[in-house]
Amino acid sequence: MPSGFDALCQMGLERDVATLPQTKIKGIDIYQEDKFLIHVEPNFFRQDPGVKWVSQPALLEMLVSKCEENSDFSFFRGWRCADIVEQNKRVKGIKVVQGSEVREIEGDIVIGADGRTSVLRRLLNPKLHVYKQIIDVVWFKLPRPEFLNPGIGLVSVSPGNACLSFPVYGDQLQVGWLIKKGHFGEIKRQGKEVWFQNLRNSLPKHFANHLEKYHDKASDYFVLDVACSRLQRWHHRGVLMIGDASHTMSPVGAQGINLALRDSIVTANELIPVLESAKENTNSIDMAFERIQRERIEEVKRIQKFQQVPPKLIFLQNSLAKLFVSNLPWLSKQDLVKKLFSRLGDTFAFGHSDVTLRI
Ligand SMILES: Cc1cc2nc3c(=O)[nH]c(=O)nc-3n(C[C@H](O)[C@H](O)[C@H](O)COP(=O)(O)OP(=O)(O)OC[C@H]3O[C@@H](n4cnc5c(N)ncnc54)[C@H](O)[C@@H]3O)c2cc1C
Repeated sequence: MPSGFDALCQMGLERDVATLPQTKIKGIDIYQEDKFLIHVEPNFFRQDPGVKWVSQPALLEMLVSKCEENSDFSFFRGWRCADIVEQNKRVKGIKVVQGSEVREIEGDIVIGADGRTSVLRRLLNPKLHVYKQIIDVVWFKLPRPEFLNPGIGLVSVSPGNACLSFPVYGDQLQVGWLIKKGHFGEIKRQGKEVWFQNLRNSLPKHFANHLEKYHDKASDYFVLDVACSRLQRWHHRGVLMIGDASHTMSPVGAQGINLALRDSIVTANELIPVLESAKENTNSIDMAFERIQRERIEEVKRIQKFQQVPPKLIFLQNSLAKLFVSNLPWLSKQDLVKKLFSRLGDTFAFGHSDVTLRI
């Protein structure tokens, strides 16, 4: 998303990002089962930098290698944080393990950026605000079908079912099949043939035929247990949590990476001056933690609230939801709806607050 890309540019990584495998998304065709409904091309798709599908492993390796240019950076590849080390009720370090080896790493500050299954979140046991989710996503890749040009996504919705597919780098099609939460176990038990058949039934015919033809070339699938939650307080006993560890994002609107990158900019703005100051102490550090949360929380809250709407419209099979989906072409021409969609799209694309690297 543009806001995530902007954060990387502010870190001086624009050229490095340009070298990564990526595909620019130019538009999306929306179907209701076999019926074509509408082609959407929001303004922010057309503007630069637009929306890009970027290889996450390549992005992460690039970030690691850029960090390694700093002589005081250490990366413990393959090590896992397993515990915290406390002194006077404040976390002073972590215990990391690899196989049977255990090490302690001390730190003036511990930042938990350990993602949606954060060990630090579990160990510190903070209070959470949780949004109950009604979907999971099954991700896999297929060879790109000829009927989809690079950059044009295909979304197909039907009551209780949705499938998002985007042609991506490497001439592949990334498919995300949205299913009712917790249902994949049951679908999987019926075997791969049956779950592909279930998926085919909800797709437009040309896509269903493509899936039938190439289903043996599908990559291994990955089931994303969709979660959306946030900590009431982002710091506990000297540990700051940011990114998914602090606010796990739903996949709606592809927001997790933007927010994590923007958290890191605000964290740098607030913590670096404190750490460089001669007056650094636990109090000044905790106050900086407070400022980080205060600066970021509105954007997180707003985006998480917006993320709850689309799955409900598709998956709650009530008459209002059905009416909404089948009237999308008409609705998309109404001024009020256009304004609402454009506000939603702009928040997803550019974020809600101004995030500028000041150091
Ligand atoms: C399948 C899938 C698709 C997604 N697609 C998108 C998308 O298109 N756009 C988008 O914006 N977001 C997407 N997301 C969400 C996005 O990946 C996250 O929101 C984002 O990566 C959060 O960044 P983070 O740095 O907070 O956490 P992560 O990127 O999850 O990083 C956490 C890191 O901590 C490490 N870690 C975890 N536990 C430990 C431990 N105990 N010890 C040491 N290290 C540990 C992990 O290995 C990982 O490297 C997707 C997520 C998934 C799972």
